[in-house]
Amino acid sequence: MKVIRAKSAGFCWGVERAIQIAREEAQGGARRVYTDGPLIHNKQMMEALSKEDVQEVGDYQSSQALDLEQSADKESVVVVRAHGISPQRREYLKGLGLPFRDGTCPDVGIIAGKVKSHAERGFDVVIFGDPKHPEVIGLLGYSKGRGHVVNTLEDLEELPNFKGEVAMVSQSTMFTHEFKKLTSKLAESYPQLVVFDTICGATKERQSDLVALFKEGAEAIVVIGGKHSANTLKLAKLASSHKRPTFHVETADDIIPAEVSKFATVGVTAGASTPEFIIRSVCERLEAI
Ligand code: SF4
Repeated sequence: MKVIRAKSAGFCWGVERAIQIAREEAQGGARRVYTDGPLIHNKQMMEALSKEDVQEVGDYQSSQALDLEQSADKESVVVVRAHGISPQRREYLKGLGLPFRDGTCPDVGIIAGKVKSHAERGFDVVIFGDPKHPEVIGLLGYSKGRGHVVNTLEDLEELPNFKGEVAMVSQSTMFTHEFKKLTSKLAESYPQLVVFDTICGATKERQSDLVALFKEGAEAIVVIGGKHSANTLKLAKLASSHKRPTFHVETADDIIPAEVSKFATVGVTAGASTPEFIIRSVCERLEAI
C-alpha cells in the first residue's frame, strides 16, 4: 500500500513548547512535575512523559481540587496545560505554594487576552467552541460573566438579547467555514459585531494539508490522535465530509488490515498532539499491508 503523509502531521509549536517546559522543569526526573489535567491530549505521550516524572493530576476539565502527594525526596512543580486555564484556576494552583510554570499555548493566550479586554470594556463575548473543552472553560473564566459559548447556528438563537457591544472569538481548533457562518448570522442581529478569527495557524495548516492529500490520490484517510483531541476529531470530521473512508486511530494497534487493505493509496494525517513515534509506527504498519 502506498502511504502519503500530510506535511504538517504531528506536533504543533504550542504542544512542542508545553512539552519542552514540562521536560525542562522535570530535569530528567530530578523534580516531579504536576500537570493539572493532561498537558496535551495524547495518552501515549503523557505515558512517555510520566517516565520523566511528569504526572497528570486532577481531572480532564481542570475543575476539581487537587490532592497532591508531595514527594519527600524531591521538589515538585506545577505546569499549566497547553489548553490554558481560567484566571480563577490559576489563582488556585498558585495558592498550592509550589513553583509554577505556564505551558499555555501563546495562541490560546491571545484569545484569552481578547476575551478579557473586551469583557472589561463592557462587551458581551460570544465564544465559538465546545462548552466542555478545557480551552473554552478557561476562556470563559476571563469573560467576567459576559461570555456565551455557541457551537451551532441553533445555539445563536438561545443567546440573550444583547443591549451593548458584542465581540466574537473562536476556540483555536474549530473550522474556519463554520466560524464564518456563525459570525455572519450573528452580525445580522448585531451589525457592529467585532469578530476575531482566533482559529490558530497550526489548525488551519493541518486542515488544508489534509485536503491536499485527496488531490494527491488518497482513497482513504487515517487520522492519528487522541480521542479527546479537538483538532484530531476535526481532522477526522473533515476527511469524512469529503466522502472518503476515514479511520481515526490512536496507535498502530488500532489498524485493522482487513479494513484498509482494499485501498491502493492511503493518506495519513495526525493531530497537533500526536508524537512522531506513533505517526511513524502507523505509517510503517500501513506500508507493510
Ligand atoms: S493547536 Fe493551535 S492553539 Fe492548540 S496548542 Fe497547537 S498551536 Fe496552540
